[in-house]
Amino acid sequence: MNLYGMTLEGLQALAAKLDMPRYRGEQIARWLYSGHFDSIDGMTNLSRADRGRLKEVAEIRVSAPVEERVSADGTKKYAFLTDGGDVVEAAMIPDGDRRTLCLSSQVGCRVGCRFCATGAMRLRGNLSAGEILNQYRSIPERDQITNIVYMGMGEPLDNLPAVVDSARLFTAPTGYGLSTRRVTLSTVGKPEPLARFLDRCDVRLAISLHTPFEEERRGLIPGTRGYDLAELMQMLRRRAREDSRRVSFEYVMLKGINDSLRHADATANLVRGMRTRVNLIPFHPWEGNEMEPSSSAQIERFRARIEARGVAATVRRSRGLDIDAACGLLATQHPATTGGTPATTGERRTSADRHPA
Ligand code: SF4
Repeated sequence: MNLYGMTLEGLQALAAKLDMPRYRGEQIARWLYSGHFDSIDGMTNLSRADRGRLKEVAEIRVSAPVEERVSADGTKKYAFLTDGGDVVEAAMIPDGDRRTLCLSSQVGCRVGCRFCATGAMRLRGNLSAGEILNQYRSIPERDQITNIVYMGMGEPLDNLPAVVDSARLFTAPTGYGLSTRRVTLSTVGKPEPLARFLDRCDVRLAISLHTPFEEERRGLIPGTRGYDLAELMQMLRRRAREDSRRVSFEYVMLKGINDSLRHADATANLVRGMRTRVNLIPFHPWEGNEMEPSSSAQIERFRARIEARGVAATVRRSRGLDIDAACGLLATQHPATTGGTPATTGERRTSADRHPA
């Protein structure tokens, strides 16, 4: 059993099962998370007997990155091996005083967004809470990270238990103690798992919209076929009235597909009245995908049109393109995740095949 990734409740239950006082759970949590300890022997406020009992059933499994690449713009990409032998990646994106860590929740993804190389990989597996948290714990910049975004590989709500546990551990006082305003979950927004997530985690949300039109969205994001966009929007509006959670919308700009002013008008209408922002993300083509990026001029026209309709809109800068760390490039070129076909040097991949930050 891996202690790393266990919640306070889980650690308290384990302590009780091992005939330890219940407060041992909190002590262990503090060693694991704020203490960054990876050795049960180092937990010096546990009795020798309790440490011995713990070691009989559990270990602390954390792992350093197996690869690190640095972009000319300062973005860093880290690769980690999963317990199952796959590779997942996280990107650390510096921007002024901010250090944003974009992490993965799955190996591959089954949502199948048409513009996304990760979607083309299909789902290979879920990460455990420990494997998600380890992408933060084990990088050299850990203590400078200001923001965590679940926007790497995978649809977080398709791995709900591990994502809930990890998000709570990022923000719990007995976890890493980060502000809930500094953690953002990006999702296509399936209403039922989203409601369960919102009931348990108070972090920010980024909804992958990509088009305001229902049928078109089902084509672009096949994983949304089972639910209505209207139902999702209704739920988001209701929740926004109940709590002060910030929700933003992500929109990958695809030439001739979703970048018309008609789309801009409908997008503004869809989200108007919410305290929100639409983030426009340039698409970066990748081999095997026929879609084209919208021109910079069209993206700017689209942004201005949304703003003219009273909704805040921004254009995201692409980061880490030279090391395949921009949106969607994570882990797609590793043999373990591509069936043994590494990318050729200079091969272009998408900057939009993961949930954009
Ligand atoms: S954009 Fe996100 S949800 Fe869509 S296929 Fe890629 S990883 Fe999955």
